[in-house]
Amino acid sequence: MSDIAVFDGHNDTLLRLYGPASRRELSFLVRQDEGHNDLPRAVEGHFAGGFYAVFVPSPSRPGAFTALEVKFTESGYEVPMEGAIDPNYALHAAFAMTAGLLQLEHDSAGRVRVVRAKADLDICLREDVHAMVLHFEGAEPIDADLNALHTFFRVGLRSLGIVWSRPNIFGHGVPFTFPHSPDAGPGLTPAGHALVKACNELGVQIDLSHLTEKGFWDVSRLSNAPLVATHSAMFELCPSPRNLTDKQLDAIRDSGGIVGINFHVGFLHEKGSLDPNAPLSEIVRHIEYAVGRMGIDHVGFGSDFDGATVPRELGDVSGWPRLIAALRARGFDDAALRKLARENWARVIHATWKD
Ligand SMILES: [Zn+2]
Repeated sequence: MSDIAVFDGHNDTLLRLYGPASRRELSFLVRQDEGHNDLPRAVEGHFAGGFYAVFVPSPSRPGAFTALEVKFTESGYEVPMEGAIDPNYALHAAFAMTAGLLQLEHDSAGRVRVVRAKADLDICLREDVHAMVLHFEGAEPIDADLNALHTFFRVGLRSLGIVWSRPNIFGHGVPFTFPHSPDAGPGLTPAGHALVKACNELGVQIDLSHLTEKGFWDVSRLSNAPLVATHSAMFELCPSPRNLTDKQLDAIRDSGGIVGINFHVGFLHEKGSLDPNAPLSEIVRHIEYAVGRMGIDHVGFGSDFDGATVPRELGDVSGWPRLIAALRARGFDDAALRKLARENWARVIHATWKD
């Protein structure tokens, strides 16, 4: 088995632990028999840390993404697109999830650290401290004056997805309809342009996952940072609007950026099948395609653990060594595996953050 440590582009563990529908008595520090991620299982899977998302679900559906309603059609399925949510509700929920993260760090007695600086990340990856980077998946908690951006930045926000799959004051997200192109709506609003500029100035990473293709090209034109999609897969292999086209992959590569490959079965299977019995090789297939198109330096993991249906064969964060082993069996050597598993993410973070 492998002992290659992993830094991951995306999970929704904060939603499961501290979201509006959470059971607050669950502790990240204690092994659980539900969900995908807790510290004992992370240690078992050499899961060294990652971006921890604050995702605010619709008040009418306070659980996870997997609770969305799917209507099957002849060629695939449709998922009713979510409307914009109330920013005050979003701010309240973001406070709850962020407070949960900070309390968890406190309670962990040094085993978990909220990472706010490059040096912190390097220390965590060296010293077996679980690194949590605060990420917002959708900018609904942020006001047009960007006061919340500046405040949450001081608290630790270092990565921001402009949208989830719904509209907000900054831009528009893609639906989950399958099959469908990511060119599924308008680009960024004027407030969105200002948000990109402010993120660049603060050194906050901008996440392109969930954004419409027009929004993607807006960010690509406006941003001076490497382009990042924290949890997306390959459109050529699975025509979901949540996946990236070859042209988008080329732009990410040319900017020095990264794609964290999403493990959600519906974004991997060529027909969009939501069957959790999809083999691990489905993830490997997307990683090999991404590496073939962009090169080994621009691909990482973006699991979507605790926010998606991942292949049963992977299971949870303790299953990461099985994915590493499957990649090794396909010819990735240790140097390549270390890049995929954490070094590419660390490079992009170093190029994006100011401190
Ligand atoms: Zn997502």
